[in-house]
Amino acid sequence: MRLGVRAALVDGVLVAGDVEIEDGRIAAHGLPSSNGRGLASPGFIDLQVNGFGGVDFLDTDTAGYARAGKALLETGVTAYLPTLITAPEERLVAALGEIVENGRGPRILGAHVEGPFLSPRRLGTHPPSARRDPDLALLERLLAAGPVRLYTLAPELPGALDLVDLLVARGIAVSAGHSDATAEEANAAFDRGVRTVTHLFNAMRPFTHRDPGIAGAALARPDVVIQIIIDGVHLAPDTVRLAWRAAAGRIALVTDAVAGAGAGGDGSYRLGDTPVEVRDGVVRRDDGVLAGSVLSMIDAVRNLHALGVPLEDALDAATSVPARVIGAEAGRIEIGAPADIVVLSEELEIERVLVGGEARVAA
Ligand code: ZN
Repeated sequence: MRLGVRAALVDGVLVAGDVEIEDGRIAAHGLPSSNGRGLASPGFIDLQVNGFGGVDFLDTDTAGYARAGKALLETGVTAYLPTLITAPEERLVAALGEIVENGRGPRILGAHVEGPFLSPRRLGTHPPSARRDPDLALLERLLAAGPVRLYTLAPELPGALDLVDLLVARGIAVSAGHSDATAEEANAAFDRGVRTVTHLFNAMRPFTHRDPGIAGAALARPDVVIQIIIDGVHLAPDTVRLAWRAAAGRIALVTDAVAGAGAGGDGSYRLGDTPVEVRDGVVRRDDGVLAGSVLSMIDAVRNLHALGVPLEDALDAATSVPARVIGAEAGRIEIGAPADIVVLSEELEIERVLVGGEARVAA
């Protein structure tokens, strides 16, 4: 099957020509085509999705995953990590047990567990009552409860680096977040195998010129991937430009979406046990603290591109860079790779979404 596109994003470059799919995999690209339309990008990979389409992943089941998955596909996501925020152990264990890695769209690549080993000073909307100091036995029980692919913790907490060692040994990517780490503490964690930071600048020790903190350390190190939320609320435009200039090519777009995303507008939802309100596209707890977003990955790509970043690079930030964080096979258009593809119009509207070569959304 030919996609009929004008060009495809291959290794960070828009290569002219059509794409051929065979048995669910990419068989060729750069094929001559005289009247191709649109651009084929790898499908988007979202590393941080708390919920979508009215579903909160801390409190859902197979039917909820199907509903959320359908809504995610419409935003170009072909693979994601359902993300579980800080909650009591029994809630986390139950929610991890509902996660089934699957091959239908969008692919669930495992869970992103964000908490409960977070800094009491940087909790954001995470419930303080369920926060825990690093506890290896608790971590072992959580890992036994379901497929964990990415783990966010505050690396400066006493004993946190032992957790990092365990996660790295199990092949689970570790992200530093909700953290009050100094640059020195952050660098010690990066040296120990932490490879990324969760929602840069948000719920994080602030950057200042004599105390750059974990944000400054992450931006300064070429081996650390920076996850950011570009919804026009979590980061000012110049902050995004600054981060891009420091870390182009190692920025991963995430949505941090909550149940209200892809659910048709303003309203009241829950993030775990916390009631949250979506108003004018901004999600807040009743005291005004930001509580995730209603951002979609396609809008994150458009927003980054609109700030002056070339389209190819903005697409990479939604595809190959997040794939790299978790060592996923997805996120690339290359021969033999699974045909997880988003076809975009020249105006960056989503025209088709394919998972394993099968059309899951068609305009
Ligand atoms: Zn967070």
